[in-house]
Amino acid sequence: MKTTVENIAGKRTEHYIGGEWVAPHSARYLDSYDPATGKVWYQAADGDEKDIDAAVKAAQAALVDPAWRRITQTERGVLMRRLAELIAKNAEQIGRLETRDNGKLLKEMRAQAQAMPDSYQYFAGMADKIEGSVVPVNKLDILNFTTREPIGVVGIIVPWNSPLMLLTSTLAPSLAIGNTVVVKPSEHTSASALALAELIEEAGFPAGVYNVVTGYGHTAGDALTKHRGVAKIAFTGGTVTGRKVAMNAASHLAQSTLELGGKSPHVVFADADPDRAATGVVSGIFAAAGQTCIAGSRCFVHEDIHDEIVDRLIDRAKKITIGDPEAEETELGPLALKAQLEKVAQYVGFGSADGAAIAFGGNPPPRPDLAGGWYFEPTIFTDVKNDMRIARDEIFGPVLAIMKFRSEDELMHLANDTDYGLAAGIWTKDIDRALRFAREVDAGTVWINTYRSASYMSPSGGFKNSGYGKLGGFEAIRTLSRLKSVVVDYSGKTHDPFVMRLK
Ligand code: NAP
Repeated sequence: MKTTVENIAGKRTEHYIGGEWVAPHSARYLDSYDPATGKVWYQAADGDEKDIDAAVKAAQAALVDPAWRRITQTERGVLMRRLAELIAKNAEQIGRLETRDNGKLLKEMRAQAQAMPDSYQYFAGMADKIEGSVVPVNKLDILNFTTREPIGVVGIIVPWNSPLMLLTSTLAPSLAIGNTVVVKPSEHTSASALALAELIEEAGFPAGVYNVVTGYGHTAGDALTKHRGVAKIAFTGGTVTGRKVAMNAASHLAQSTLELGGKSPHVVFADADPDRAATGVVSGIFAAAGQTCIAGSRCFVHEDIHDEIVDRLIDRAKKITIGDPEAEETELGPLALKAQLEKVAQYVGFGSADGAAIAFGGNPPPRPDLAGGWYFEPTIFTDVKNDMRIARDEIFGPVLAIMKFRSEDELMHLANDTDYGLAAGIWTKDIDRALRFAREVDAGTVWINTYRSASYMSPSGGFKNSGYGKLGGFEAIRTLSRLKSVVVDYSGKTHDPFVMRLK
């Protein structure tokens, strides 16, 4: 793999279109920053609608190229298994590229890269097991069967927080069904999608199956969602952008899958194991510095255990090791963007202004060795009301809003009183209560006595303003394919041409 931290530092990267490395049509490049230092570390091609058009055309050509269209499903699986092996071989480098780009912990990004091959293996196995069905229509001498086929060119837009893992959740099922793709990574994290291009080529995929145009969302991303050659947009990002994306896709009747933001309720009942519950709450909000869509940012604690849980959270927050994301001992790295740091600070201000109490944190860490990096302390608010801005808006940072509740009814009302519906978690030993919560809560994923436990095998995707469409497991294949119904008349008879054959 040539796209490594050492090789691209101080250099420029290009688009990957139709199997070639291509300079941007505009000849412009954008700066990519290292969040741990706040300094530029490479420049990525700044794509525009002409680059997007070239990439979509390459993907359209690959879609009908016999080298891709006419190979068997099993052969597609073989290519994917080769890709899985190459990703496994290069996992350390991929993890390092992502950490340098988004500032998340190396141990987290490495773990994501090491887990990724499983996802390609899983969907490789699925490639030749995608069945249609025989439909029992109410006519003799008619055979009706269905087949699932590629949907076409898929435009994949992913954010900066877990770039390659989020890309994989659309790419792996897309390759399994035989689609071709154009990827627009976040302007902040272009490197890993480009590194993957090299591995895809080395695995032997035909040119044009996988294309990457780097650049800004409002230019390259916007052009991709508007391009009439794109059959499906798989978008992961914020809710505001998601709305624009869905409208652009709808304007040319492309389907869309929207994996958007969240403000997930994380509930602790009085009968929960306090140590496991507090650790779960910490993992839900302080892992990845809170920059996960599934962050359990609204924590509801039963009044009987409220003070004990708050004390435990403060205790653990005090011990969190903040620092260089590449150091193995670090637990909380910098935020990925300067704008993100400013947003977190602004929301901490809103929390205090709206009457919540800061129980811990609330500032950038006062450490000269971290100056210049975009760091913020783990921050815990108590006395929060569900109508405060820190309880309603997605902050996407290490800020926890704790609310007290008394009864299950009150909890359900508060938990569902949000625009979002991505995930929810509950800690309790009472299985009846846990299952009632799972049934009643408006969330696409519900965790019982665990949090942030994810699998490419499990359907994921939110409700309400958290989006629509599922990725993971066979649901991803359904989302990324189209179903065809084939009708065969084997009666040998000639029918009245002016009467529709309803019987
Ligand atoms: P964002 O601003 O919506 O950006 C997401 C992606 O969309 C980026 O690649 C961005 O490119 C691109 N984009 C921006 N404007 C666009 C436009 N007008 N047309 C097409 N594409 C456009 O979100 P973000 O701040 O990067 O990411 C954080 C958000 O993602 C949070 O809300 C988080 O909850 C959500 N998220 C959801 C999931 C999930 O599975 N539900 C997973 C991870 C993150 P640029 O970066 O170049 O602007």
